[in-house]
Amino acid sequence: MEQVDVVVVGGRLAGCAVAAPLARAGKRVVVIDRMAFPSDQLSTHLLQPSGTSELAKMGALPRILALSPSQVRWTTLTVDGVTCRERLRPAPDGIDFGVCIPRDQQDVCLVEAAREQGADVRERCTFEDLTWRAGRVSGLRYRDASGERHEIGAALVVGADGRRSSVAAAVGAWAPYRLSQNGRGLVFRYVDDPRAGAAEAETNYQWREGDSFALAFPSSPVGRLLVLFQGHRDETSEARKDPEGYWERKLTQHPGLRERLRGVDPASYTKLRSAGEVPAFFRASSGPGWALAGDAGHFKDPVTGQGMRDAMWAGRELAEHVLPALDRGPAAVDAATRRWEHHRDRHCLSAYHFANMDTTVEAQPPALLELVRESARGHEQPDLTDLFGRARDMQEIAPIPRLVRSAVAAFARGERPRGQTVVTSVKVLRTQLEIRRERHADRFRSTRAVYDSDHAGASWPSPPAVRPRVLAVPEGAVPGAPVLQEVPA
Ligand SMILES: Cc1cc2nc3c(=O)[nH]c(=O)nc-3n(C[C@H](O)[C@H](O)[C@H](O)COP(=O)(O)OP(=O)(O)OC[C@H]3O[C@@H](n4cnc5c(N)ncnc54)[C@H](O)[C@@H]3O)c2cc1C
Repeated sequence: MEQVDVVVVGGRLAGCAVAAPLARAGKRVVVIDRMAFPSDQLSTHLLQPSGTSELAKMGALPRILALSPSQVRWTTLTVDGVTCRERLRPAPDGIDFGVCIPRDQQDVCLVEAAREQGADVRERCTFEDLTWRAGRVSGLRYRDASGERHEIGAALVVGADGRRSSVAAAVGAWAPYRLSQNGRGLVFRYVDDPRAGAAEAETNYQWREGDSFALAFPSSPVGRLLVLFQGHRDETSEARKDPEGYWERKLTQHPGLRERLRGVDPASYTKLRSAGEVPAFFRASSGPGWALAGDAGHFKDPVTGQGMRDAMWAGRELAEHVLPALDRGPAAVDAATRRWEHHRDRHCLSAYHFANMDTTVEAQPPALLELVRESARGHEQPDLTDLFGRARDMQEIAPIPRLVRSAVAAFARGERPRGQTVVTSVKVLRTQLEIRRERHADRFRSTRAVYDSDHAGASWPSPPAVRPRVLAVPEGAVPGAPVLQEVPA
């Protein structure tokens, strides 16, 4: 039987981000993916500078830049007529632009970069089940394109196989311990941009009118524009039934976007693509001999476009946590993956709550509108780009005194009925206080729902057909933690 240090299921963002640094450090790493690359994936694929920076750390940026992608350098947010424009803040390594490259072209660059650094990436190979030794995952079995079965032994098996993770199902972590329903859906298409080469073509535009969001940002190759609507998730069925009627209705709702699209030739419109039911979740993401990276372990509503960056960040961090442990035996590896999971959750918690807040289909709270107004006047820091670029989180950008001042300013301005301003401001403050309390408590796999952020009602699909090994969860176990027991193969 083949024996390696780490075997990874899934060869996109998270998978390549785990594999590349481990292989670079001389570890034997095998990545299997059931797809053959280039391969597409449903995603609007915008990366902020922090995401471009992860591509650089993975060693994939030279290949990405060789595609001559459009670069995103500005962000412009308009909320109910108030506009704020900011230059994207550079990541700590100096990278000051985002990229937006269709997934088929982007992901193959990651695979090639991982291979170049020594990872053995095997395409058209489908994970089948895990192997176990003394209650610990000891490797996996997979089937190749010709139908032949193979077995690999490894010190660690990483599931980087996306939201419908078969590895999660096989270790008994399929059901998330924390799940939040999304309110918004995504409907998008590409168009040819007549303003290619102008500053607008380096800008990520976002309009928030009433309870609807619309975005337009440069995609690749240069001269392509990605246009995205984020309305109520039920709008996706409207867009599927009557695509052009839906498109017209949304342009009427967002006149700024209609203006941005002036001169676009409708002959360049691609088909509308959409996604509706994509709940946010945390799964138990580490256990004896296994870990779940990227979407397999944690997913945020795509409304804030953080998924790809976080998948790469989590993969790289997992590699950095386990690298020193791989030579020190199974207990050291398992302690490292558990530490990594806690670290990931601390890092992602604020963004998870921010996405939950943004997915609520309501008009923007007046206090937040005041914050945008303040940023538009030139706040000392680029608040919006820091928030979307993960340089600072919501709690750092808007500490409670600043939120209270904004609420008071909104009340004094009296644009909305004052009673409504008081009610929504109190709601925002309560949510923000609960998030701060949760962060302070720093519990591992916390299941406590935060008011007005964790939304009940999400449905969860049945697991893919794999043989789970979970037999029981005893009283007093950490919520969500699967309890494993060896079962003969
Ligand atoms: C509609 C939509 C829009 C989005 N827009 C954005 C955006 O603008 N910006 C952003 O940053 N994020 C966005 N995201 C999120 C982003 O797409 C994900 O976070 C990202 O793809 C996660 O990467 P990953 O590597 O964890 O998983 P994935 O990209 O899901 O890759 C998983 C891989 O595992 C493989 N696999 C699965 N099962 C098996 C198996 N049994 N055997 C072998 N291989 C297997 C698959 O073939 C696949 O290649 C969006 C998501 C959605 C749904």
